[in-house]
Amino acid sequence: MMETFQDRWDQVRTRMAAACARAGRAVDEVQLIAVSKTYGADVVRAAAECGVLIFGENKVQEAEAKIPDCPGHLAWHLVGHLQSNKAGRAAALFDRIHAVDSLKLLQKLDDAAAAEGKRLPVLLEINVSGESSKFGLAPAAAPDVLAAAGGLAHAPVVGLMTMPPFAPEAEKARPHFRRLRALRDEWCARYGLPLAELSMGMSHDFEVAIEEGATWIRVGTALFGGRGT
Ligand SMILES: *Cc1c(COP(=O)(O)O)cnc(C)c1O
Repeated sequence: MMETFQDRWDQVRTRMAAACARAGRAVDEVQLIAVSKTYGADVVRAAAECGVLIFGENKVQEAEAKIPDCPGHLAWHLVGHLQSNKAGRAAALFDRIHAVDSLKLLQKLDDAAAAEGKRLPVLLEINVSGESSKFGLAPAAAPDVLAAAGGLAHAPVVGLMTMPPFAPEAEKARPHFRRLRALRDEWCARYGLPLAELSMGMSHDFEVAIEEGATWIRVGTALFGGRGT
């Protein structure tokens, strides 16, 4: 019989619960973002009918076309890279921005959120591995951004996000997740910012991320199936 969205949603929640149990964490400490990129409003609607409330997109333009056709009670997170010239459009569409990687972008989001009259929590993307990935702040560059972040009223920095270099074996991601958490602990203490959120872990490695302290996992293919190429 064909696997339904409900089947995959149940499997993912079972995996989440097992990882939380292994880590001695409560299941409600970890929230899931259903990454619906490349899938249309019909698929989002079906997921929403199974009780999914938070969706992730990685492109502003795709989200602009999709979100108006989706149920109005859903929350939308931008999980992908954002160019600063799209900050205004992103602030209008999204409830949270996961991959802020410059002070310029952070300031633009703060201005845009002020203009929208909304609070738009953001996370800083940190390139913990220092290799391959084009995006993310180098750990050495983050302190300047964090020092300035304290003054921003509309786009508060609530945590850190990372995308480790892709490796099929989930264990390869563990040192990167662990490092993000250690940087968070260090910067929380040093800048007095409540960086409570850690956005890390995707379909194939979210259990490891949960064991290392993730509060947000970003799950696409395990819920919606492959996106093709
Ligand atoms: C696509 C995407 C995900 C989800 O990846 P899956 O492997 O499909 O779970 C998570 N985070 C970001 C930033 C993405 O672009």
